[in-house]
Amino acid sequence: MDLRAPTSGTILARAALDRGARDVHARLLLRAWLRGRPLAALAATRGAPFPRALREALPELERQLEGLAKVEERRASADGSARLVVRLSDGRAVESVWLARGGVCVSTQVGCAVACTFCQTGRGGLERNLSAEEIAAQVVLARRAGLCVRRVVLMGMGEPAHNLEAVLGALRLLGGEGALAHKQIVFSTVGEPRAFERLLFHSVRPSLALSLHALEDERRRALLPRAPRVAVEELLAAALDYAERTTWPLLVQWTLLQGENDSLEEAERLAERLQGARAIVNYIPWNAVADTPHARPAWQRGVELVRVLRARGVLATLRRSAGADVDGACGQLRARAAAAPATAP
Ligand code: SF4
Repeated sequence: MDLRAPTSGTILARAALDRGARDVHARLLLRAWLRGRPLAALAATRGAPFPRALREALPELERQLEGLAKVEERRASADGSARLVVRLSDGRAVESVWLARGGVCVSTQVGCAVACTFCQTGRGGLERNLSAEEIAAQVVLARRAGLCVRRVVLMGMGEPAHNLEAVLGALRLLGGEGALAHKQIVFSTVGEPRAFERLLFHSVRPSLALSLHALEDERRRALLPRAPRVAVEELLAAALDYAERTTWPLLVQWTLLQGENDSLEEAERLAERLQGARAIVNYIPWNAVADTPHARPAWQRGVELVRVLRARGVLATLRRSAGADVDGACGQLRARAAAAPATAP
């Protein structure tokens, strides 16, 4: 299986340099694209006129960039979010979510190899990695639709640590000419301490979200069968160290599964471990996926868990997954789109 993305490298930088442009031109092009503005307007830029060959190539470049990611289906939710099926240039599809208050959730891979037992995406395995530009293009789509993007979360399909080089490239684009502050970008992962190290020394250091889901190694391995074999304590320690060194609080993600990881005792132990740490626990009642052994706990149970943590001084929230009323679990919308004819955006 060839996991390489079909569009690796930077289309814009390559095209600009090939046509005799200077760095300033490449930067202007990148800035315009990443902020959702048309490239053609740059042809008239005063001060740093574009080489003629580059000016003439702009419409074709625009077309290529638009081909990176196209909205194929858009489903608005009552909670103000919208779930999208995004078609890539090779015909494969991923999901993005436009969240309320300017958040954009993007995918980093087509499919995913981690195979979490509660996730629709994990069922189909990994098809391929996305390129840095394909990841950034999902943010461009939101900006072009008029969204004022305030936060980008790498929490869609895929495990960012499994596609690290492209993700680092996307961080560079989004946190550079894309004008997002580092802490406005959230790297969401099942955990890979070596990836944390790379992020620490990267030019754009995002916030970290750790999908923990369980405190016991054995239970976590059962839920996330292909996550890196790292003990929970080691993982937490590395993630909290990252949070200390960046000063961005660690987001501890916890999908609630009835009778499996929703006990008050485990919440007590989690509270004990996180007391005084730079962390926020985010409980998310599971969004049902058919033919799985899991069940969704009552909302009230989530409320009780949050109370346990808060009583110990640990920040905690309970939230519904965005777009829960429109095939809200990661990968469901894409799976349905694959099985049915697409509707217009
Ligand atoms: S929950 Fe995330 S890491 Fe797990 S299989 Fe789904 S996409 Fe992959």
